[in-house]
Amino acid sequence: MSTTLRKPRDRGAIVCFGEALVDLLAQPPSTPGAPRQFVEYAGGAPANVAVAAARLGGHACFVGMLGQDMFGDMLLTHLHGAGVDVDYVRRTDQAKTALAFVSLDADGERSFSFYRPPSADLLFREGDFDDRCFDRVAAFHVCSNSLTEPRIADTTLAGMRRARNAGALVSMDLNLRPSLWPVDVDPQAQCWRALFEADLVKLSRQELEFLSPGSGGEDGVIERLLRQRTRCVVVTDGAAPIRWFTRKRQGTAATFPVTAIDTTAAGDAFVGALLRQLVLRNVRAAAFGEFLDHHAAFDDALRFAAAAGALATIRNGAFAAMPDADDIDRLMQAAA
Ligand code: ADP
Repeated sequence: MSTTLRKPRDRGAIVCFGEALVDLLAQPPSTPGAPRQFVEYAGGAPANVAVAAARLGGHACFVGMLGQDMFGDMLLTHLHGAGVDVDYVRRTDQAKTALAFVSLDADGERSFSFYRPPSADLLFREGDFDDRCFDRVAAFHVCSNSLTEPRIADTTLAGMRRARNAGALVSMDLNLRPSLWPVDVDPQAQCWRALFEADLVKLSRQELEFLSPGSGGEDGVIERLLRQRTRCVVVTDGAAPIRWFTRKRQGTAATFPVTAIDTTAAGDAFVGALLRQLVLRNVRAAAFGEFLDHHAAFDDALRFAAAAGALATIRNGAFAAMPDADDIDRLMQAAA
């Protein structure tokens, strides 16, 4: 499917690498005792980030492996329909597209049952990267679900390094899903390997806690990251203020009060919007440190991202919940 959406004024591509999968969301029973029904939604964190960035007018590519099956077809159609460049997606008949069954408890908390491994996304190899997706890469984004097995982890790291060599800003949202990891593997080591490759790291409060043992607590995690390549760590916590840390400064950013109905993909909306802001301002890896010192521009980018995250919670689903730039402007103006 040829979907290349080169926009005249776009400043380079946001390439999101990893898994696209189908979330099968349990529905409330129509009548007591009726069989449980599941509705399919396109998802997968890197795919969501690509959709978020595309909805904001960016040139966003999703790169990953889909099964040669009906769910792979469905994901490709949805990504394409959302304006994502899918020219560099690969397909395989060696494994099926991953599925995640999602149910909500009485408090609205999600629990996941993943049908993976085996799955197609885990079969992407370094040689499957199309050289052309690094030609115009401005930002390269990954999550930890493409680290759960050694070969896909090596591929993810290889992609991060290729993007870095191309001058791109490398971004990682830990987005840890412990149940996706083999029971005898501690995700920490693999996660740190990738985190050390990222210029921008987004963690949730729980993920910061998860990384703390062995790193001297939460402050130790931040220091450990900023001592390496990372220039900025952003810690989100739902409606609570966002904390951010750079080598020179740290601070908080307010979130927007909204009535959340489904928090799926709020973090992905946040990251997609933040990357879109960075790329619009022509910020690649080399200019990232300088950008972070520029207080007003960084504050504006975080505020835009926070508005995107908030708006993603007021609609159901992931792709369908991503706001456009007008939605974000309206929320920011209403809150001003
Ligand atoms: P993740 O999905 O990665 O856990 P969060 O739930 O922390 O990410 O959400 C990311 C951002 O989205 C938050 O920092 C905030 O700006 C926005 N957000 C998420 N939930 C809410 C909410 N209930 N109300 C307002 N903003 C929210």
